[in-house]
Amino acid sequence: MDPVAVAEEVAPVLAEAAAATDTSGSFPSHNVEVLRDRGYLRSPVPVELGGAGADLAAVCAAQAVLAGACASTALAVNMHLFGIGAAAEAHADGEPEAQLVLRMAASGTIIGGSFTDAATGLNVRASSTPAERVEGGYVIRGRKAFCSLAPVLDVFYGTAGVTDGSGLLLFAIGRDAPGLRFVDTWDTMAMRGTGSWDVVFDDVFVPEVLTQLGAPWASWDRRSERMLAWFCCTVAAVYLGIAEAARDFALRHTSGRRLGGMQLPLARQPGVIFAAGEIDAGLRAARALLFDTIARRASALAAGDVPAAAESVAVKYVVTNAAVEATQRCFRMVGGSALYRRLPVERMFRDVQAGPLHPPTNDLALEALGRAALGIPPDAAPRWGD
Ligand SMILES: Cc1cc2nc3c(=O)[nH]c(=O)nc-3n(C[C@H](O)[C@H](O)[C@H](O)COP(=O)(O)OP(=O)(O)OC[C@H]3O[C@@H](n4cnc5c(N)ncnc54)[C@H](O)[C@@H]3O)c2cc1C
Repeated sequence: MDPVAVAEEVAPVLAEAAAATDTSGSFPSHNVEVLRDRGYLRSPVPVELGGAGADLAAVCAAQAVLAGACASTALAVNMHLFGIGAAAEAHADGEPEAQLVLRMAASGTIIGGSFTDAATGLNVRASSTPAERVEGGYVIRGRKAFCSLAPVLDVFYGTAGVTDGSGLLLFAIGRDAPGLRFVDTWDTMAMRGTGSWDVVFDDVFVPEVLTQLGAPWASWDRRSERMLAWFCCTVAAVYLGIAEAARDFALRHTSGRRLGGMQLPLARQPGVIFAAGEIDAGLRAARALLFDTIARRASALAAGDVPAAAESVAVKYVVTNAAVEATQRCFRMVGGSALYRRLPVERMFRDVQAGPLHPPTNDLALEALGRAALGIPPDAAPRWGD
């Protein structure tokens, strides 16, 4: 199974339904079912465990195609795929714990989660959702937000703060766990079909075996790197795919539209030609950075090196912002018609705005890149000079 071929095959059907998904804000369960049936959701699982062994480059290429057709579907399944991809690399690195999650994915289990506390937002170092230590595990109560895939996920993973002060707890739990509820709060301007609902924990017991104390990203090692790389690169690919689809639409639209009294189509107007050039230059650079970083990463890993965090952070920052800029340029290039919901560029304009909001957000990305450029350690204290 080639994920790019599957994405290309299903794209026309997804594109056809994308406007209705956006208008209703409903979750495109059917699309996810189709992708599960075609083996797309297990594509990063190693072949010997029942998947297609797709690497980061293949998954990113496929996700860009899928996002161009239906951004919500692509982003929702991305929250499952990036974790499976990181687990596949852990398996390749000889970490036996990764097998469980890979076998679950191979059998069709959908995994999604949230690190965002509903009341206090995202802080990857702490969580305001309390986890109380009890015999055999933890009891979790509270509410998390932004849980994409919530309508269909089988297993939830997330973070909570242990009330005895021992730190951040990572945990996983089945959808049917007593006290666990998914609440549809997702009425947003962008990515309306991702089903990124709230998750409510009414004294949910999580057995210790399904927990881990301490965040994997607390120190920079191979484990942190693969999570960050899979997250940043696949998220970047989704937003790149939206922008490339907006570009394709804008080029077609202006090439086919001739205003009254004009001899030649709109695409022969200087403003449109320069806009097309600007969009092309920005998206070429974004695509090149994404896939060049992935290729250099593969070489570094093969040599036994752990690439720096700045590599993945730069991809996420540059590509998602380039995607916003290019899509906005497409919007203006299309002109007044772009305001109508009947044209896909209106939806793409809204959807692409979500890119820079994923972690690391622009401020945090620039801080990380600036510190790396200046040789300042990520955790240097005090954080700022006076
Ligand atoms: C479409 C979509 C789907 C998503 N799906 C998921 C999902 O499935 N699972 C999941 O876990 N998350 C998901 N997220 C949520 C995402 O991970 C963020 O948690 C969410 O966007 C809120 O983060 P925020 O940083 O903008 O908000 P807040 O945490 O409220 O932060 C607000 C602002 O403060 C800034 N800020 C925050 N902390 C710091 C700091 N330490 N230093 C400086 N500035 C800071 C941020 O950059 C931001 O500008 C999704 C987000 C979107 C947009």
